[in-house]
Amino acid sequence: MPRPVSPTGSVLLEPGIPMCQTDLPLDWYQEEFRPYAEEYLALPDRTPETVLPWLDAYVRPAADHFGDALLLLAHFYMGGEIVKLVERYGGSIADSYALALQAARNPQKRVIVESAVHFMAESIAILAGEDQQVWITNPKAGCTMEMLAKDYMVLPVADQLVERYGDELVCVAYMNTSGRLKALAGRTGGAVCTSSNAHLVVDWARREGKKLFFVPDEHLGRNTAARLGMDLARVVRLAPAEQARGAFPLDDAHVEGGLAALDRAEMILWGSWCGVHTVFTEGHVAWWKERGWRVLVHPESPLEVVEAADGAGSTAYLWKAVEQAPAGSRLVIGTEGHFVRNARELGRRRGVEVVHLADVPEAGLAGAGCGCATMSRNDPPHLAGMLDLLRRGTPPDANRVLAGDAVDEVSGSRERLESAERAEVARQARLALERMIEVVGD
Ligand code: SF4
Repeated sequence: MPRPVSPTGSVLLEPGIPMCQTDLPLDWYQEEFRPYAEEYLALPDRTPETVLPWLDAYVRPAADHFGDALLLLAHFYMGGEIVKLVERYGGSIADSYALALQAARNPQKRVIVESAVHFMAESIAILAGEDQQVWITNPKAGCTMEMLAKDYMVLPVADQLVERYGDELVCVAYMNTSGRLKALAGRTGGAVCTSSNAHLVVDWARREGKKLFFVPDEHLGRNTAARLGMDLARVVRLAPAEQARGAFPLDDAHVEGGLAALDRAEMILWGSWCGVHTVFTEGHVAWWKERGWRVLVHPESPLEVVEAADGAGSTAYLWKAVEQAPAGSRLVIGTEGHFVRNARELGRRRGVEVVHLADVPEAGLAGAGCGCATMSRNDPPHLAGMLDLLRRGTPPDANRVLAGDAVDEVSGSRERLESAERAEVARQARLALERMIEVVGD
């Protein structure tokens, strides 16, 4: 049966969850993974009853072969089959922070296979021991927010900021960054943050009297500033990353409000964003609230959406809200489509109704909550192939994840650092992660 294709030509991975980022490339399978993809495409349907036994035929031999050394991980935004399979084999489904800690917390796990985007796998690798290997099932799976904040874009601009403000400047790097940007946070005396603790990390940096360079998500940065009561006139965004597509000079043309505003700024925002979380509008929120629903959103959404909602927080916060809602509650969730579908299943079991914020059944507001297209590049054939190739001892090197790797998500290739440089990036990135843990507690 052919894979369903959207009107724009992109592949629809699972019926009902369109992808609202860039179109998926049809050539997303590496050569080594094509046989698994062909088998998958030949399955009679995509129901869990069909897909899971097919996956089992590859996963079980790998699990037997590696025994307790194997750890499967997936992010909350992954599709249902991957989530169910990872759970069945004793792996973890978690948010990016909890995933990052998995290698360090499980030193006996030496073969770690991740179904999620690259920065998450790299964060695991940064904290992994020498004898632990981290693999991503598809090296073309990048976070688009991180893809608009590559080191070659951000670091030359950061150098100019450091030259202008010296030690006064610290970088706060959201978890959705490469190891090279986490290392920037480490060497400027800053820290990593997550969507659940950004307010604590930013507050700590402010109390240190620092000027903050927040990378890469302008919305999380601005929402955090608003939450802390900062003067938003002193929160200044640099040139939109999608337009700049590279480094730029620090001048009036590339700073919102010009250099005078930059000098007055308390927080400087890199101009990246997530396509999945910026489809939401105040109109969506108002529509559901007027009908008595409780609206919760992820803070990668625009400020006006967060302010209109009843609450905002990380994926862990949103999941817990569904877990703890009394039976009979009606919750609207504004985040990634697969997550909301999984949350809807959880809610159904508990008598809690869950809908996606963008699923407003009205012309003008109608839309479908969309999935993270790049995350979904880790589909069942990638997991089956990765485990089978690992068991056979022939995994492609492009799927191995090391700290400091710079990935080209179009080709799937990666630029690796020499071991001394890699160790230094990992050390600085760990410093930034450890500072976060010191500030917020583990
Ligand atoms: S949902 Fe957005 S921020 Fe999250 S991984 Fe996908 S592109 Fe990145």
